Amino acid sequence: MGSPDYSDGCMIALYPPPELAGELAVEGGLPAEDLHVTVAYLGAAGDVDSDILREVVEDLAGRRPFTAQLAGLARFTGGEKDVLVALVDSPDLEDLRRDTLDALYERGIQIPRDHGYCSHMTLTYLDPEETGALGRLDAQTVDFTTLSAVHGTDRADFPLAHPMRSVAREAFAAGWAMSGGPMTERVQVACETAVQIASEAADDPDILRATIDLGKLEGMWALLFQRREEQQARHARLIGDAWRPLIDRAVVAAAVDEFRLRMGIAEARGPDWARIRAEALAVAKKMLHALVDVTGFGKLRQALWDAIAAGRAEGMVNAVAIAAERGAQVGLDWNIAFKDAYRSMERLDELWADADGWLARTLDGAAGDLGSALADGMEAGLTRDEMIDAAMDILTADDAAVAFVADWAMTTAADEGALSLYRSEGVLQIDIISAGDGRVCSSCIDAEAGSPWHIGDQPRMPLHPSCRCCYAADVSLAHFASWFL
Ligand SMILES: [Zn+2]
Repeated sequence: MGSPDYSDGCMIALYPPPELAGELAVEGGLPAEDLHVTVAYLGAAGDVDSDILREVVEDLAGRRPFTAQLAGLARFTGGEKDVLVALVDSPDLEDLRRDTLDALYERGIQIPRDHGYCSHMTLTYLDPEETGALGRLDAQTVDFTTLSAVHGTDRADFPLAHPMRSVAREAFAAGWAMSGGPMTERVQVACETAVQIASEAADDPDILRATIDLGKLEGMWALLFQRREEQQARHARLIGDAWRPLIDRAVVAAAVDEFRLRMGIAEARGPDWARIRAEALAVAKKMLHALVDVTGFGKLRQALWDAIAAGRAEGMVNAVAIAAERGAQVGLDWNIAFKDAYRSMERLDELWADADGWLARTLDGAAGDLGSALADGMEAGLTRDEMIDAAMDILTADDAAVAFVADWAMTTAADEGALSLYRSEGVLQIDIISAGDGRVCSSCIDAEAGSPWHIGDQPRMPLHPSCRCCYAADVSLAHFASWFL
């Protein structure tokens, strides 16, 4: 059965999703990939400039994707062949047709006027003599997400997208740029969300202002997290640099020997692993707590103090940055603010007590790791030298206990810095904002949901190691004028 050849024609058309097209295609009819709804037939391709056609379609595509209804079958008669079609019903399609005619008219493109418009999707051509039941097509929806320019055998698809989308994307980007924050994956995701919200609320006169504010807010958070990550990585490295020289191979070897001696490995009468683990931990603790007397321990203590002071200072700057964002105050100079806040730490004696507390945790953490390594080594039947190697590895690895504790200490310090700033500024209510970065545990989500908290009643952050969740509150910025440009 022959179908008329339109391959040298020109049209603006909508193509259904391939899956639906596959269901609609009938045997002997148009192939699934050719099923379409003609919005306007423009005549012979030779009479229409393909660039102009594309421009027109690109403009017309500045509208939301829409859903139409397939409303049953019809048979058009009166031509050489009859045409079996699916009727397509949608007010959006009527609007599109009207806008298309207007756009073509403006470009001076005349369209053939030998038919009125009855929107349909041709399924197959039939001989006029071939009568019989049409069959039945259940009513169903069809989503149109692109508009196509078809010029002869060339077809270009333009995604349907509300014009608000590109305007909103620019507004968000402008807000983000004002924040000075980095472009992160999280910012990109936030941008897509903001663009979606804006295109759904396109009639709201305040929507672009709100979108700019969202961009600023996301940029501020991105900057905040980036600074924290950088500082935590830097201080973890400095603490590691002060730590590793303390781990002397001869001292570790002595601990391994003491452990092996205590176990009386030669005359062991069947292993008692609980006892072996307890002995290993005792030996490890003894070795690590003796580090306090090693030259260079003061350097480690100082490195922890620096990390805590930096964490506190950053927490104070973060608190002011969040308050500035909430109060639409621009111009915070994060570096000036950080230096100023850091200087104020030198008067705080309590930081040394903090540093010593975290040092003790570092030593306990390392002792736990070393104890396990010794006991595991015994269980695996390692030789003395192999045990020493394993112990050295576990104590000096990049992700050793010392780095973990450094990160935790800084996060705690940052949260304390923010909290002390809120207290000194007389803040009564604080929010908890989860970082939303995949490291959030359920306790953080609960803490966020419980916001705002009366200050003092809020959970003490961080709620878990490696937590990046934050306090947030409104603060009068009067005392921090020197931090703003
Ligand atoms: Zn958290």
